[in-house]
Amino acid sequence: MRTATCKSCGASIVWATSMQGKAMCVDAEPCEGGNVVLSGTERNLVFRVLKKGERAVGELVYRSHFATCPNAVRHRTRSERYRNDKMVETCGDLLLLGVRDG
Ligand SMILES: [Zn+2]
Repeated sequence: MRTATCKSCGASIVWATSMQGKAMCVDAEPCEGGNVVLSGTERNLVFRVLKKGERAVGELVYRSHFATCPNAVRHRTRSERYRNDKMVETCGDLLLLGVRDG
């Protein structure tokens, strides 16, 4: 999987895009209790957020890096609306894209 490094906390992350074309960074390591499912190809990762109560069957679940980045807390204190609208921009602010091919 192509990984990038969070400039803010140094964690390994991957970038994925929603069906609607929104980019989001996701922890590179699967996490039990996560709610993000990745699919697609290595070069074109697609993420899907599980609905409440929905369980991934036979798939690894990941967590949004927004939820786990210790340095993203200040962004998460904003309103829900802000979070949704500014998710991509916030991610871009926080992260340096150290994307490695392969
Ligand atoms: Zn981080």
